[in-house]
Amino acid sequence: MAQDSPDSDFEPLRHAITASLTRMRGELDAAALAAGRDPAAVSLVAVSKFHPEAAVRAAILAGQRVFGENRVQEAAGKFAALRAERTEFRLHIIGGLQTNKARNAVRIADVIETLDRPKLADAIAEAAEREGRLPDLFVQVNVGDEAQKGGVAMAEADSFIESVQQRFGARLRGLMCIPPAESDPKPHFLWLQGCAKRHGLAELSMGMSGDFAAAIACGATQVRIGTAIFGHRPAAGTADVSTPSL
Ligand SMILES: *Cc1c(COP(=O)(O)O)cnc(C)c1O
Repeated sequence: MAQDSPDSDFEPLRHAITASLTRMRGELDAAALAAGRDPAAVSLVAVSKFHPEAAVRAAILAGQRVFGENRVQEAAGKFAALRAERTEFRLHIIGGLQTNKARNAVRIADVIETLDRPKLADAIAEAAEREGRLPDLFVQVNVGDEAQKGGVAMAEADSFIESVQQRFGARLRGLMCIPPAESDPKPHFLWLQGCAKRHGLAELSMGMSGDFAAAIACGATQVRIGTAIFGHRPAAGTADVSTPSL
């Protein structure tokens, strides 16, 4: 385990991440209460992309159990030892998923949040058959209809969600979105909430470091927070189109 190693960087890292997790949980609880919601109804996905395994271990020692990663390969490497040790955690894939990565995603993920097209649904179904396991699923909706972003187009969302429900049943847990960076996120969050209601879906994955309070006010059941927990990501992260907040 990293914390047993002579690595003198771990203790300061652990203290910093413990402090930011405690602060973030406080802020999430406050946002829920301000919105008249039960704080227990909002879960925290700690987005550890581009941060090392030691950061994940530090968060686990601080009681965090749910993590989000953008890239399947990065996640597979980072979480392999923790899985082998039977550490308790849940891993969410939150980045755009190529069909040729679907099998690895199905193998390692507890939740895939970025199901957004029929070909990916096909790939996940085939991978699930081969792997003998099917993660929980979220449909990602491109709520700003932005060309550079993943997610099913708003106009096609209803029919796509219906087809996913027919195929995967209750494995489809909810909807996910990343609203446009430069506009008020609230109308987008409310649209997603209405869409989830129409389909009887209980879960809403929305809200990041910069907009979690608005997301919680609009019904988010899970927020995906990276920077506010782990600090700024190395430069490689800024090239990722799904990280508009940087
Ligand atoms: C990186 C990322 C986050 C976390 O963003 P922060 O602004 O660092 O909190 C959330 N959701 C997705 C899809 C991401 O790619």
